[in-house]
Amino acid sequence: MEVLLGKTFKEIQQIVEELNMPRFAAKQITQWLYQKKASSIDEMSNISLKHRQILKDKYTIGRTDFIGKQESTDKTVKYLFATNNNRFIESVYIPEKERATLCVSSQVGCKMNCLFCMTGKQGFAGQLTSGDILNQIISIPESNSLTNIVYMGMGEPLDNLEELFKSLEIITSDYGFGWSPKRITVSTIGPLPALKRFLEESKVHLAISLHSPFHFERLSLMPIEKAYPLSDVIHLIKQYDFSHQRRVSFEYILFAGLNDDFKHALALSRLIKDIPCRVNLIKYHRIPEINLPASDTNKMVEFRDFLNDRGIACTIRTSRGEDILAACGMLSTNKNKE
Ligand code: SF4
Repeated sequence: MEVLLGKTFKEIQQIVEELNMPRFAAKQITQWLYQKKASSIDEMSNISLKHRQILKDKYTIGRTDFIGKQESTDKTVKYLFATNNNRFIESVYIPEKERATLCVSSQVGCKMNCLFCMTGKQGFAGQLTSGDILNQIISIPESNSLTNIVYMGMGEPLDNLEELFKSLEIITSDYGFGWSPKRITVSTIGPLPALKRFLEESKVHLAISLHSPFHFERLSLMPIEKAYPLSDVIHLIKQYDFSHQRRVSFEYILFAGLNDDFKHALALSRLIKDIPCRVNLIKYHRIPEINLPASDTNKMVEFRDFLNDRGIACTIRTSRGEDILAACGMLSTNKNKE
């Protein structure tokens, strides 16, 4: 059975044509998929019984429920979904005062092997389709109250570019969820060719995982630095306008004694000084078998104040869901081991 969820309007038009259904059925089907969020073709009551049957003979909607969840005392909820190759992915729902954000996964595991990341330790086990990505958004109980989506879960979204683009098209199109691109952020470690396409072909916000302004140090944390050094990423970013519709932010995990001192803050401020941006400092959630210590709060405050004093907007991201190990990859790793 082929899956309808995640198909763009154009793709649904092709399906309708192949099945000899009336042309207007494409609009009806996309409405059922993305606006009424139907979970079965039988719900498509304005499509004739005959055409529903023709559709059902070859297609299914492809919705899957989450198979587990963990709720933090701070109301952060981590959802676990099974993939069709017997692996697991996670999505994290983060309610705040005026926002409700869902952090979605874009791959099953990840190839990038960043030293500090539990998902990286899993290795790569497959791409998610745009339907798998959208399913995370529409299959959680809080779906209708979401205000923001961040692609910061498992995987490197730009290593799954076509499915990322399809999911973004559906979330932001009138035929889909009809969201403003300003409500969406894609986080990446910066594979350059894909980043260039992303900057050319999408309008959503960008977050770059930076973590060290120094080449060899960043390389020790993030193997991608070898193929696509941060200096090239920064050079590329400077060619685009981030002063109006679209924002760029830099994510910086602080590790005690490694990247959290004055020297790093100064080098970082010099590196990004010409870019209208924000820096988000992130407290490290320790992962098993990796001996990287997290910086303490005083160090984080000093680092933040140093950047603020140099005119760079910098905030310390509130740690959420610590009691449920909300660092991405922990829950699915445990489930994979089971
Ligand atoms: S930090 Fe992101 S890119 Fe790096 S291994 Fe983890 S999921 Fe992959």
